[in-house]
Amino acid sequence: MVDQYCGGRPASRRIHLSPPDVGPAEEALVVAAMRSGWVAPAGPDLDAFEREVAERVGCGHAVGVSSGTAALHLALLAVGAGPGTVVVVPTLTFVATANAVTYTGAEPVFVDCDPATGNLDVDLLPDLLDDLRRRGRRIAAVVAVDINGACADYARLLPVCAAAGVPVVEDSAQALGSTYQGRYAGSFGRVGIFSFNGNKIMTTSSGGMLVSEDSGLISRARRLSTQAREPVAHYEHRDVGYNYRLSNVLAALGRAQLRRLDGMIERRRAMREHYAKVFASVPGTRILGDGDAGSNCWLTSLVVDPATAGWRARDLGEHLAAHDIETRPMFKPMHRQPAHLDRWAVVTGAADRLFAGSISLPSGSTLPGVDADRVLGLVEEFLVRHR
Ligand SMILES: *Cc1c(COP(=O)(O)O)cnc(C)c1O
Repeated sequence: MVDQYCGGRPASRRIHLSPPDVGPAEEALVVAAMRSGWVAPAGPDLDAFEREVAERVGCGHAVGVSSGTAALHLALLAVGAGPGTVVVVPTLTFVATANAVTYTGAEPVFVDCDPATGNLDVDLLPDLLDDLRRRGRRIAAVVAVDINGACADYARLLPVCAAAGVPVVEDSAQALGSTYQGRYAGSFGRVGIFSFNGNKIMTTSSGGMLVSEDSGLISRARRLSTQAREPVAHYEHRDVGYNYRLSNVLAALGRAQLRRLDGMIERRRAMREHYAKVFASVPGTRILGDGDAGSNCWLTSLVVDPATAGWRARDLGEHLAAHDIETRPMFKPMHRQPAHLDRWAVVTGAADRLFAGSISLPSGSTLPGVDADRVLGLVEEFLVRHR
């Protein structure tokens, strides 16, 4: 019975935004890992999972860690973020991107997004980098976030950063399996990271990974992820490291998920296509990043212009909530977060408008079927009432 694995579905009829999609294939590999005796943050499944993710995204090297946030922390340390440096971060992101910068002692500088895609607005970048330079700030990195699974505009972003001599860290926490101009998300920066949290496109319940072509960078990150223990029999530590390694048991879960990734992406895409069809004829609405054929469609967000549509994104959210269906606005921008106020931010208002006027709809790969029919039926009902 696959159902008993799916986010508590049998107990309630609640439909979640992006529930985990796990079943017998995952169970088999997890049990096998436990029986192998490798119940530790080391083992053959972890080694294999790293190789398989690296191969899948076309990167030479990978290291598995306990979360996407831990991966970001190590990636930023690896490119030299630390006290006295700044890191440019899109303001429209999950808070982990900004938090990881502060863990290193660096200061995040927020930059607004392109209203069409929600990804970092590359037009703002050259002036910002110049400005930071003129003020004598050391820029450790630009973090590009692949929002909702759609890759940032790397054809324009990479040359700007290369010209300024600033490394790119790719936060592809949401974008495993996405492509952009024939290359996989995670492979565009000097280092890329993935999250395997329970709500991401695939999960290890919690987990993350760094990928890079730079084997030295990955071995430095690997060392820091294991308390920076020196390769000697006694416990020797020349640096302060972290306990960030991924469990071998969870890596086994990840290996089963990775084998099913293409199917899960197809089903998320099917959900997006259903929504696109429903909203195609509704004035004042658009699907964020619609038409991006390479996106893994992790989340589908609808942007609503109330003046044209005659209703607000929030109204649809309330209608669905009344029927026990989860939705949420896009991320509240970092420059509005109490934890990150008073930071330098270059804002155009685009992220604020997306936050105020968007709704992320149930997008999970477990949905297609009766749950999708129920959500789409309720959306249709709402639209008829607001026509
Ligand atoms: C989920 C997410 C993270 C953090 O990943 P965790 O595994 O939850 O620590 C970082 N950045 C973005 C953009 C995310 O969506």
